[in-house]
Amino acid sequence: MLATPPTNPSAHTPAARSPTARSTGSSSLTRAQDYVADVLTPTVRLGVTGLSRSGKTVLITGLVETLTNRSADPSYARLAGIPGLRAYLEPQPDDDVPRFQYEEHSSALAGTPPAWPESTRRISQLRLTLEWESSETWRQWLGMPARLHVDIVDYPGEWLIDLAMMGQSFAEWSEAALTLARSPALSPHARPFLQFLADVGATAAADEQVAIAGASLFTSYLAEARRRAPAEAALGPGRFLLPGDLEGSPQLTFFPLGDAARAAEQPRTLASLLARRYDSYRANVVEPFFRAHFARLDRQIVLVDALGALNGGAEALANLERGLAGVLAAFRPGRQSWLSFITPRRVGRIVFAATKADHVHRSSHPRLQAILEKAVARAARRASTAGAGVRCIALAALRATEDVEKVTGSETYRCVRGIPLPGQAVAGRAFDGRKPAVVFPGDLPADPLDAFEPTSARPEHYNFVRFMPPERSVQPWSAGGAARVWPHVGLDEIITFLLGDHLP
Ligand code: GDP
Repeated sequence: MLATPPTNPSAHTPAARSPTARSTGSSSLTRAQDYVADVLTPTVRLGVTGLSRSGKTVLITGLVETLTNRSADPSYARLAGIPGLRAYLEPQPDDDVPRFQYEEHSSALAGTPPAWPESTRRISQLRLTLEWESSETWRQWLGMPARLHVDIVDYPGEWLIDLAMMGQSFAEWSEAALTLARSPALSPHARPFLQFLADVGATAAADEQVAIAGASLFTSYLAEARRRAPAEAALGPGRFLLPGDLEGSPQLTFFPLGDAARAAEQPRTLASLLARRYDSYRANVVEPFFRAHFARLDRQIVLVDALGALNGGAEALANLERGLAGVLAAFRPGRQSWLSFITPRRVGRIVFAATKADHVHRSSHPRLQAILEKAVARAARRASTAGAGVRCIALAALRATEDVEKVTGSETYRCVRGIPLPGQAVAGRAFDGRKPAVVFPGDLPADPLDAFEPTSARPEHYNFVRFMPPERSVQPWSAGGAARVWPHVGLDEIITFLLGDHLP
C-alpha cells in the first residue's frame, strides 16, 4: 500500500513508540525513524454514535478486543491475509477528551459472571494503531512497517439531535418542541410540564427559580418519554438527556415556551431570559461540539435500534426514518447548510448498523438489513441527500445467543438460545439471569416494505429479550498466547468497509 499523507494535524503528533520499534542502533537514529514513521502514518478518525443504549460501548470494546487479541481470526479473512498485521493501543492525540475506558469495559465482560459494561454518557476517544509488513522497498530497507492510526471517537447520538437547533430561533424551536410534547404519543409523559407552562405564561417576569423549575420538569418529560416510548422521535436538546460535563450547568436552564416570539422581544420577561439561555446553549455547547469533534471525522458508524422500531410498528419506523434523515443531513449537509461551512471535509464512508441482531435467528439477519436499507433510502430521499458511501448491516457486536431450530408438527420455529437478563419475561415466564432459555422472537417480514405499511398485519408476538453477555471460551489463537473468543455478527464487515481502502 502506498503511504497516504496524514489526513489531519494529529497525525503529525509523535505518538508513543510501537511495540516493534527498533531497539538496536543508535538512539538518535531510532528517534529519527520513529519521527518519520509518525509523520508518514495516516490517521482515520472514526466516529461511533447512536442513541443511548444502542450498543456503542460494546461495539468499540469488541473492535479493540478482536483486533488487539486477534481472537477473531477465523472470521476476519480480509485482515488475516495481511502479512504481519498487529494492532495495539497508543496514547490518544487529544488531551482534552476523556479516554474511552476500554480496559474497564473489557474486564466487566470477562468477569464471572460476565456483565455488560457501563454505557456511553459523554464523548471519549481511543487511538488504535494497525501495523503490518510493508511491501514497499524503502520501508523494508529502513525496517519501517506500514501503519495506520485509527482514532475512535465515541459520542452520544443525542448530541446530533441538536444540529437542528442551529437553524432555529428560540421561538421556532419552542413551537416545534411544544407541538411534539402535545402529540398524542408524548403528551401523557409531558403532562406535568404542560401544566406548569399553562400556569406560568410567557410574559411572566424573568425569574431564575421559575427557569430552574421549568427546565427540570422539561428534562423529566424528555427522560420519561425516552424511557416509556423509546421508539418515538428522538427528542432534544441532547445535553438535557446526556449532559456530559455540563451536569448542573446554568446553560441547561431553559425550556420551550408558547408565544415565545412576541414575549422574547420584551425585556426582563421569562421568555427573554430563556431565549438568551437558548442562544448561549447553541453558541457555547452545540457549535463547539460540531467544530471541535464532528467536523474532524473521516468515517462514521451509526448504531440504530431497528428491532425496537420494528416492534413499535409502522409509526415507530416512521420516527426512525425521521431520525435517520436528521443524521444523514448532519453527515451529508447541503451546500447552503451551516454545517457545510464548518466541515472542510466530509465523512467519506458511513455504516448504519442495526444492533443486537443476535436477538433474532441468523436467518432473519438479511431481512433486518433490508428493513434498515429501506429506512435509510427513504430517509435519504426525505433529506434530499445522496446515499453514496453508505452501507447498512445487521450487527451483533457481541453475540449473546446461539441459533436453534424447534420443530413443532409441520412448523419449524427459528429461535435463539441465551441466558435472559434477570427480570426479563416472555409469556408470563420470568427469568432469573442464570438459566438458559430458548426464545422464539418472531419472523421478520420477508418484504421490507411491509414493515413500513401501517395497514399491513404486524405480528404482535415479537419477543425481543435482553440477554446476559456470553461466557467466552478461551482459545489459543495467537502465537502470543490464549485469547478469549469474541463471538459477533458483522464486526469484520464494518472494519473492511470503513478501513479497507487504507489497508493493503
Ligand atoms: P451505549 O449506550 O450506546 O454505549 O450502549 P451499550 O454498548 O452500553 O449497550 C447497551 C446495552 O445493549 C448493553 O448493556 C446490552 O444489554 C445490550 N447490547 C449491546 N450490544 C449488544 C449485542 O451485540 N448483543 C446483545 N444481545 N446485546 C447487546
